Amino acid sequence: MAESVILVTGGTGLVGKAIQKVISEDELAKNEKWVFLSSKDGDLVDRKATEAVFEKYKPTHVIHLAARVGGLFHNMAKKVEFYRENTLMNDNIMECCRIHGVKKLVSCLSTCIFPDKTTYPIDETMLHNGPPHNSNLGYSMAKRMVDTMNHCYHEQYGVQFTSLIPTNVYGPHDNFNIDDGHVIPGLIHKCYLAKQQNKDMVLWGSGTPMRQFIFSEDLARLTVWVLREYKEIEPIILSVGEEDEVSIADVAKMIKEAMEFKGNLIHDTTKADGQFKKTASNTKLRSYKPDYKFKPIAEGIKEAVDWFVANYDSARK
Ligand code: NAP
Ligand code: GDP
Repeated sequence: MAESVILVTGGTGLVGKAIQKVISEDELAKNEKWVFLSSKDGDLVDRKATEAVFEKYKPTHVIHLAARVGGLFHNMAKKVEFYRENTLMNDNIMECCRIHGVKKLVSCLSTCIFPDKTTYPIDETMLHNGPPHNSNLGYSMAKRMVDTMNHCYHEQYGVQFTSLIPTNVYGPHDNFNIDDGHVIPGLIHKCYLAKQQNKDMVLWGSGTPMRQFIFSEDLARLTVWVLREYKEIEPIILSVGEEDEVSIADVAKMIKEAMEFKGNLIHDTTKADGQFKKTASNTKLRSYKPDYKFKPIAEGIKEAVDWFVANYDSARK
């Protein structure tokens, strides 16, 4: 049988690096060829560059992670770029997968793209029920269309295009840029600087919003499982349970503890809170994988903090 060639777009990012680690320890992967792409291998916003990537690697399977990604404040400031770049990348990837006869495409959505005004917990059936939170309108609408197009491609061409929906992700190799990144890497970076400079650590917003966080290696393991075993076109939420939702203030305390920072943690309430919560149900995931054990958040935060401190010079920031 011809060798499977699995192309991972965005293979150098937070989730891509975690998949690299999981794959390096995976027995089945020894008989497969895994290719992890960086944007340096081709700008996937550009159709010709995307076609060249497909010509070069001839993938049989694709995990599509590449995206314009950022935290609340970056999303609020660049809605047009978040919409356009993600829409173009997703369109290029899907159409190249169709043309090149890719057997399965797994794309990555996010729980922040669900309707803002909703009942909780959110589940997979509610994706298109109403407008998303305005703070990340561009990103959300681009990502929602992936689910729409997965169904269109399946109906018209019979292809296996599906998607997974992670909650907030964190771990080693994250984007630790304070202005553009997500809350955990942003707060880790701020805590590091506060400790070095003997200053206060500043949390943005009230600290009351609630989030479910998934450690990047857990998401990586589950993504590989989706590629190999999940047969539906409908998306699947990859999340810790509702009972594991934590407040932003509690996350900041865990970071402070992991960094052994003894100074003050203060709130800048002039900054936005974003969505108050987006509590997601992992009932569907549990129906397939009842025994999967997620890394507890305090342990994952300690790992992310230790990684950032050890790799301060080379970390994305
Ligand atoms: P990330 O760390 O920012 O990595 C983004 C990846 O995409 C990088 O490998 C980057 O390549 C690549 N990329 C960006 N623009 C590109 C372009 N124009 N052409 C080609 N490649 C491009 O992101 P992540 O956090 O791993 O996110 C992975 C996926 O998970 C995304 O689809 C994101 O929407 C989704 N997601 C993330 C979170 C989260 O909390 N992080 C939550 C839910 C869903 P270079 O680094 O080489 O430039
Ligand atoms: P979201 O989950 O999509 O809203 O994205 P984020 O990962 O950016 O989380 C945003 C939440 O964390 C909001 O409630 C922010 O007010 C809060 N927050 C507190 N400090 C920070 C910070 O330093 N960076 C970011 N991005 N958010 C912060």
